Amino acid sequence: MTVTLTTAGPLTPDQGAEHTYDVTVVGAGVVGAATARELARHDLRTALIDAADDIGNGTSKANTAILHTGFDAVPGSLEARLVREGHELLSAYAAETGIPVERVGALLVAWDEEQLAALPGLRAKAERNGYHASRIIGAGELREREPHLGPGALGALEVPDESVICPWTTPLAFATQAVRAGVHLHLNCRVEGVDSDSGGHVLTTSRGPLRTRHLVNAAGLHADEIDRLLGHDVFTVTPRRGQLIVFDTLARGLVGHILLPVPGPAGKGVLVAPTVFGNLLLGPTAEELDDKTATGSTAEGLRLLREKGRRIVPALLDEEVTAVYAGLRAATGQEDYRIQEYPGLRYVAVGGIRSTGLTASMAIARHVMGLLRATGLEAGEPRELPPLTMPNLGEAFLRPYRSAGLIARDPAYGTIVCHCEQVTLGEIRDALSATIPPHSLDGLRRRTRARGGRCQGFHCGADVRALFEGDRP
Ligand SMILES: Cc1cc2nc3c(=O)[nH]c(=O)nc-3n(C[C@H](O)[C@H](O)[C@H](O)COP(=O)(O)OP(=O)(O)OC[C@H]3O[C@@H](n4cnc5c(N)ncnc54)[C@H](O)[C@@H]3O)c2cc1C
Repeated sequence: MTVTLTTAGPLTPDQGAEHTYDVTVVGAGVVGAATARELARHDLRTALIDAADDIGNGTSKANTAILHTGFDAVPGSLEARLVREGHELLSAYAAETGIPVERVGALLVAWDEEQLAALPGLRAKAERNGYHASRIIGAGELREREPHLGPGALGALEVPDESVICPWTTPLAFATQAVRAGVHLHLNCRVEGVDSDSGGHVLTTSRGPLRTRHLVNAAGLHADEIDRLLGHDVFTVTPRRGQLIVFDTLARGLVGHILLPVPGPAGKGVLVAPTVFGNLLLGPTAEELDDKTATGSTAEGLRLLREKGRRIVPALLDEEVTAVYAGLRAATGQEDYRIQEYPGLRYVAVGGIRSTGLTASMAIARHVMGLLRATGLEAGEPRELPPLTMPNLGEAFLRPYRSAGLIARDPAYGTIVCHCEQVTLGEIRDALSATIPPHSLDGLRRRTRARGGRCQGFHCGADVRALFEGDRP
């Protein structure tokens, strides 16, 4: 297996300037990585490039990590179809590759008569979206199932197939499989210009020119800018910030399901959700901004979340906070994805993947593959990719520190480095020598959970850094 992964220096002639790629995907978030994986199933020369030093380093690293059923999508929209298909595809892929998923189910809780009256309509909408397993439950059953809910909950719509998934392992699995199957991954490679003619495109990147016949723009928050480089003025991305609070694993027992609000005119609202890491999330906010780098948390945002959280699960507010973070949704003023093919240009724009892109990623990738064919890409029949098993970060599944067999075979899996998250030396060693290794401590955290627990690296930070730096070339 020859792997081409570059992170610095000019692209060599065979990586772009002289040898033309069949397809280049700009943006290695969950959508771009899924697309590269889909392309890897075909006999094509494909490049996946990203301005950042890691895959999944944009919006894909900071979401609520729910594997949606699409029950509440706009019926008939492209998003509704791709979320529904994506749920199926990603559920199967996760089972195959070991990406942790927990089918905890969701409860849309009605807190007043108006919201209670809205539940049958939401159930009918779910039916129109092809989701038939939802049902309305009364206040008594709701309280039995969620005893820590705040006072005044009148009933709920149960959506049993809403699940939580690992947001970090998912794009890493896609990109790993793509790279192992021959896709070239170029990181720290920002697209700054595009020259297009009937033969294809020459991308001006921060690492030199790159030639490609077909181009996929999966640049997330910056998809509108790449689109403009190709001469279009179709959509503008307005970042919609979502701030979240992560509560300690000791809070996990307070909630069994994903607790969703009944959506209103102000959007989907604030939820409380378990994570596959054993924490609870409270969030997100929805703030329209104009700064695509504004991923900081604010006192006002956190105050608002605490206020909403107090209503949903009052005891949550007594629990310790592990971390806060924020992600930016790539909103475009249209309540649907903006995926468009341009056959004359051999180009597909994948814009406006706002708040469901993790779930829909594999279906978006398949859809883009079809559109690439419509732009003239001759791809032939897809082949099976060699199987992949990802390291498990999920609390509900067997982690190395709990596996006597694994520890007996290799004591490094019994040597804990990060005690809060129980991350072992063996896992850190594996991540540092993986097909796509991390290039920062944050990248290492997303691959192992090291430094991600209640002390946020206060105790293990120096050891983790020493391992990270010691293994750097
Ligand atoms: C608060 C919040 C909660 C969410 N919750 C959920 C959820 O529960 N479930 C769900 O399914 N979805 C959820 N989402 C949505 C999901 O996270 C996104 O739809 C998804 O991550 C978008 O992926 P992407 O690959 O399109 O974009 P990104 O992950 O942003 O990737 C785009 C990439 O393009 C790169 N790039 C940009 N410009 C250039 C350039 N000029 N040259 C090279 N590279 C470039 C960036 O570096 C980046 O890595 C949520 C989003 C937010 C913000």
